[in-house]
Formats: sequence, C-alpha cells, structure tokens
Amino acid sequence: MNIRSKLPYIQSHIFSYMTGLANQYGAINLSQGFPNFEPSAALENFVAQALKENTAQYAPMPGLPLLREEIARKIYNTFEVTVNPDTEITIGCGATEMIFNTIAAFVWPGDEVIIIEPGYDCYRPAIDVVGGKTVVYQMPAPQFKIDWEEFASCITGKTKLIIISTPNNPTGSVMTANDMAELTKLVKGTEIIILSDEVYEHMVFDGATHESPLKYPELRERTVSVYSFGKTLHTTGWRVGYAIAPPELTTEIRKVHQNNTFSVAHPLQKAIALYLNQSDEYLQLPTFYEAKRNLFREAMAGSKFNLLPCEGSYFQLADYSAITDEDDFSFCERLIKEYGVAAIPVSRLYTSHKDDKLVRFCFAKTDETLLAAAEKLYQL
Ligand code: GLN
Repeated sequence: MNIRSKLPYIQSHIFSYMTGLANQYGAINLSQGFPNFEPSAALENFVAQALKENTAQYAPMPGLPLLREEIARKIYNTFEVTVNPDTEITIGCGATEMIFNTIAAFVWPGDEVIIIEPGYDCYRPAIDVVGGKTVVYQMPAPQFKIDWEEFASCITGKTKLIIISTPNNPTGSVMTANDMAELTKLVKGTEIIILSDEVYEHMVFDGATHESPLKYPELRERTVSVYSFGKTLHTTGWRVGYAIAPPELTTEIRKVHQNNTFSVAHPLQKAIALYLNQSDEYLQLPTFYEAKRNLFREAMAGSKFNLLPCEGSYFQLADYSAITDEDDFSFCERLIKEYGVAAIPVSRLYTSHKDDKLVRFCFAKTDETLLAAAEKLYQL
C-alpha cells in the first residue's frame, strides 16, 4: 500500500525518547515534564471512593456537571471571572485533546495558524492533520519575549487561529498585561480565534500574576483557554484537562470532542470534583514550585551551565555553550550516558530545529532528586 503520511516529519517523541534513554541508563530524569512525587493522599482516597459510586459507565459528554461547577468556582477563585459551567466548560482527555479539538473545530484547509516557538510540540501536527498551514513566530533567544511588531507581520487575511502559551514551555517566559493589550490590538475587528495554552497557570513566580485572556473581555469573546489537572494536581497520567470558551465556540469544540473521545474517565472526574470542593491547595503551587526553582538554581550556581531566567512553568533552561559546541541533541544523549542526567534539547521544540545550545531541565522533582542531579551536572 502506498500510504501518504500526513505527518512525515514525526519521528520519535522527544519526551518519550529521552525518558526511555534515561531509564535505560538509570539516569536522573529531568527531561519529560512530570512530577516524581505523589499527588495528595486525599485526592487518591476520593478516587477509591468514586470507584464505588456508580462511576463505571460513561460520564456526560461535556464532563461531569459536579466537576464543571468546581472548575467554574476555581476560575472565579483565581481570576475573578465568571464562567458558565453548562455552556463554557468542556472536560477532555488532557489539555492535549482539547488543543486538538479546538484546531480541528475551527481550522479549514488552507487556513493559517500562528504558533510561537520554541514551544510545545503538539500544535503543528494537529494543524497538519486538518490541512491548515502553520506560520511560525520565533521568539528571539535568549530573552524569549514576543516582539509584537514582528509578530504582527505574521498575520494575513488567512489567519484563523493564534496559539499562545503562558507560562511558556520550554522557556519559562510569562506573558504580561502589556502582552495581552498588544494581542487585543492585533485581533480587534478580525475573525481570529485565540487558543491559549495555560497548563502551567499556577507556576508563575516572583509575585507576578498569571495573565489569561479570560480576564480581558475583548480577548475572552474569541479565546479558547486550555488547562490541565495533570499539572495542577500532579496527575499527568490521569489525562484530565479542560477548555473554557464562549458558548458559540464551545458548541463547535464539543462536536469534535463528542466524536473523538466522547467523554473522560468518570471516576477520576468525580474524585477531582470532590477534592476541589474541599481543597484549594493549588493556590500554594507558585510558592511550592518557586522554592524548587530556587533550590535547583542555587545548586547549579557554580556550574558551567548558564541558567536563563525562569519566570514560570516547571522548566529551567540552561545554556551549555561554555562546556561544548556539540549540537543539543547529541549533548543530551551524552549527558544521560556519561553523566547520568536527562534533559530535553530545545532544538526539538523549534520546527526548524534551531540550535541555541540550550537544554531544558524539569524541576518538578523532589528536592533530593534536584540536588543529586545538580551534583552530577557540576562535573561537566
Ligand atoms: N508536557 C510534557 C513536557 O513538556 C510532556 C508531555 C508528554 O510527554 N506527552 O515535557
């Protein structure tokens, strides 16, 4: 058979590849972004409870009403914004599913979608599967801030969607109120929809606040914001995330969701709802992760790695050009094999594989793990 791949450029998943190699060599895994500590025991107990409460059959397609209500409460609690749980919240199989659904719902063949790089790698494949055209805006290294004048030159009459992410994976840069104002000016009077990937919303440091388009009425009316319980509750394996969008957009997103996964693990939705009802522990996450960021940065301070600023997310970028001029992928392989620490080569988060001699370390790890990794990295 002559199979014409829609995604000929997809090779191995960089996050799985580095995790696989880390496991093979027994290295400390700071590559793929996931915590190496347990979620709350109370949350796990609610899962056990929920399993016994008639949750073995399908949950409602848009998500369990109880969980959607808790999400609306959480949104109010964090952003002081009111969202309607019936018409504006949809629960999906991780933020990734909701990103795919949004792209599939709105992008027609030939439509242009602007993505920002370096960035997470699930946007372009979704755009390609539906026949859209990816337009890349590259943030200038090493500040990784958006130059809005340059960004504006990416917009054409065919632009259907702009995908933003704050805090940004992998750079840890965070968008400000000024960025939101610039974005508002750019899309005013157009039909452009914004897809806002906010899975690291609770990891914003140094007293800054998370800026979501949801907080800005002129953006909110055209934005799909995507969130992740995997990140917020330390449960990346549960695959529960959600999208918030105005009713007209939500209707279309749900049409795709209904025919994609239909609905998400019922017991997990119930457990998360019960947990959120009694705990707003997520409000502690900035402090929790800021301490980990500081611990890791201090432990790495005298090493040959030059750590870039990290305003948010649970990722720390490090420039290794004082150590070697080899490419970042080979360097990451060697880091695992010779030094016992796994990281992500940032070039793999650029369509062009641009090599800035940067690696990404994930600091969602126990303090002990972070200190042990820093000690090994010190040897370079
Ligand atoms: N978001 C995670 C990261 O950036 C990886 C997600 C995945 O492996 N699917 O490391």
